[in-house]
Amino acid sequence: MTIGVKEVKLERTAADQIFLPAILEGLVTTARHFFRNTFGKGQPGIDTIRYGEPDVRTEDYYPDRYRGVHRLMYREDGTVRCVACMCCSTVCPAKCIYIEAEDRHDDEEKAPRLFVIDELKCVVCGLCVEACPCDAIRMDTKTHMTAVETREEAVLSKIDLLKRGAPSVAVQGGLGPDYRKLQPDRDPRFPGA
Ligand code: SF4
Ligand code: SF4
Repeated sequence: MTIGVKEVKLERTAADQIFLPAILEGLVTTARHFFRNTFGKGQPGIDTIRYGEPDVRTEDYYPDRYRGVHRLMYREDGTVRCVACMCCSTVCPAKCIYIEAEDRHDDEEKAPRLFVIDELKCVVCGLCVEACPCDAIRMDTKTHMTAVETREEAVLSKIDLLKRGAPSVAVQGGLGPDYRKLQPDRDPRFPGA
């Protein structure tokens, strides 16, 4: 069997050959976007957040599902909600959560003796929050991880995580996926706590 080869000629006009019309077209497009975004109203670019001015941070910048630095929540009696079930540390793809369990002594549940998150390893996926069966860990602080000089500074202890904590009305064991909607604002720093 003979395989034929089809020769396709690239047809170029004189304008294509000198590239000038294409260059001019590109410049016109760039200039149009520049003037529209700089002086126009309601055009793309006008709503761009001027990030880089930390003093004028706007709440609108944060989407509802923004994931900030972790925090650990409290029970009604002020003790840590976490029952050291290890769901979060198991699901964590970065393996950056380390937990050691201890008995709570007042009931049949456990509590974390150690609860450590290495924020430098964290990939901010939020899976730990999704996996937690009792609303014990959250990333709704709207707090950015601060710059650190050493890894030790980025490793948050149970105390660090509880400092940002707040009471949760979620029933231990769960009110179901909508429990956040059922909660009153407990702490003005953390609406929906
Ligand atoms: S956000 Fe993701 S990577 Fe970070 S601690 Fe949670 S599960 Fe691990
Ligand atoms: S999933 Fe929740 S309860 Fe279980 S160890 Fe993690 S924070 Fe604690």
